[in-house]
Amino acid sequence: MRIVLISTPIGFLGSGKGGGVELTLNSLVSGLLSLGHSVEVIAPKHSKLYKGNEQAKLHFVEGEDQISWQHQNYNSPVTIPDNSLLAGMLEKGLDIAKQSDVLLNMSYDWLPIWMTLNVEIPIAHIISMGSESLVINNLIAKVYAKYQYNFAFHSRIQANDYPFIKKPTIIGNGFKLDNYIFQDSMKGPLAWVGRVAPEKGLEDAVYVASELGEKLNVWGFIEDETYAQNIEQSFPQGTINWMGFLSTDKLQKDLGKCRVLINTPKWNEAYGNVIVEALACGVPVIAYRRGGPSEIIQHGQTGFLADPDDKETLLAYVKIIENIERKNCREWVEKNASTDIFANKVVNWLNKVIKEYK
Ligand code: UDP
Repeated sequence: MRIVLISTPIGFLGSGKGGGVELTLNSLVSGLLSLGHSVEVIAPKHSKLYKGNEQAKLHFVEGEDQISWQHQNYNSPVTIPDNSLLAGMLEKGLDIAKQSDVLLNMSYDWLPIWMTLNVEIPIAHIISMGSESLVINNLIAKVYAKYQYNFAFHSRIQANDYPFIKKPTIIGNGFKLDNYIFQDSMKGPLAWVGRVAPEKGLEDAVYVASELGEKLNVWGFIEDETYAQNIEQSFPQGTINWMGFLSTDKLQKDLGKCRVLINTPKWNEAYGNVIVEALACGVPVIAYRRGGPSEIIQHGQTGFLADPDDKETLLAYVKIIENIERKNCREWVEKNASTDIFANKVVNWLNKVIKEYK
């Protein structure tokens, strides 16, 4: 299959601004290449694909980023800036896709979804968020009425945000297992990983650390400085160890030494890449029973799930985290979320999409 991928219109690949989509795109490219498919990627200037993905052709586009939908009001109209990166990527993608089988869009935005109704080229969409915008929600419903296979979701619970989709395609996500080393250190520090932004609920994990009188190691791109400072000031000085945004290789080395990852999203997280990355290193995860994390974590086997926003239960679970066998965590990823498993699901789905157009 010849597949053209459109990246996120927020930040170049490797910047961290695009969140989990950056890793998902790379995992998908590597899974598709290993299955023998041909892949081209349209991405913002300065983007880099991971080592091993060199066979995929990378096309650069320059332009202005979109505004992230999770930081706008649900009823906000669509904004397209002058010299739009998204429009540029779409233009290039549509042009290259004339020689390909399918255009696979990974940006959560209005324009590529609308375009599905207006071109003959199949455009398939990996929806990377829950419902964060009325205008996108209604557009998905409209496109779905004509093309029922063109959307895929990372988790069932994410797809529930789009109740008009009757039998949603769930593709999960994929991780290149060679990139993560299993570590058996049960006595390490506490970890939190993610974009530092309100929907990620960092404050609840800091609360747990401060109640235990411990430090919390925090890795990730600081998207909202004011939010980060407010949290820092609300807890005893030095509770947060800011570790910065690291490459996957460096991140997994440090993360693997931790005894638990505390994951605290306040929104309907579509999936939660960082959970699986921790599990792949043997690190159990404690999260709320909400969004993607509640589908990934096997309660009592690979971590624990607390009721949404119940910080006291998070704390109680951290105290008994040594009951989780770290090898269970790695095994779950091997059986459920490798790049091959992921790429196979995506290819099966894309075959259905392409068939509709024949
Ligand atoms: N991440 C990273 N380095 C860091 C911290 C985070 O590469 O130091 C990446 C991580 O690998 C993951 C992404 O940031 O792929 C966060 O994705 P997630 O799905 O957890 O949340 P999102 O940001 O998409 O809401």
